[in-house]
Amino acid sequence: MERLQKVMARAGIASRRKSEEWIQQGKVRVNGQVVTELGVKVDPARDVIEVEGRRVHLEKQRVLLFYKPKRVITSLSDPQGRKTITDYIRDIPERVYPVGRLDYDTEGLLILTNDGELAHRLAHPRYEVDKCYKATVEGHPDEDKLERLRKGVPLVDGRTAPAKVRLLEQKKNTSVLELIIHEGRNRQVRRMCEAVGHPVRHLIRTRVAFLGLGALRPGAYRELTESEVARLK
Ligand code: URA
Repeated sequence: MERLQKVMARAGIASRRKSEEWIQQGKVRVNGQVVTELGVKVDPARDVIEVEGRRVHLEKQRVLLFYKPKRVITSLSDPQGRKTITDYIRDIPERVYPVGRLDYDTEGLLILTNDGELAHRLAHPRYEVDKCYKATVEGHPDEDKLERLRKGVPLVDGRTAPAKVRLLEQKKNTSVLELIIHEGRNRQVRRMCEAVGHPVRHLIRTRVAFLGLGALRPGAYRELTESEVARLK
């Protein structure tokens, strides 16, 4: 946490003197509240700062597409010493946070960003951003089971919203399903498939919104282009 006028100046919004003036004139809001004192401290990565009603960013905005490998925790640190995202993201000085989470055993596409608004937009079901999964499940779900998944299945935390579900492939003892959902509840796809009698053996997230994994390998990441970021907003 640092003084507001200091981070404003460092971000190139205005000189420290000018920033102080604006604060005292009531032109600056932090998380929606006008601040007029000069002592207020902010977290450049988390707090929303507006000057005369316009959002300003105190850090370079980063949006990364990361291919989370299996057996990696979706967090920045782990008290039990397991691998986390931090072990993979090396040359990004800003602190970036995962948008939603993938289970320890799930692999695939994870967006990391320090743009809190964008993170909210991508994660909240209201914005209906597609999260597309390929699930290898036990057995051979029939059309009736697929229909139950599509309509929404009752789970302990309530019925899931309608989903797009299709059968991609049938193997000897397993089947591969594609599920497109907008929610991001804990272990949702695994619980949905389990609820209709087809436990998940392998799960990969292949797409979020229009973004696929492309040529990324597990453990690798790339920064989104400006136009990709603009399309997400
Ligand atoms: N659904 C799951 O069950 N696990 C994930 O990691 C993501 C969605």
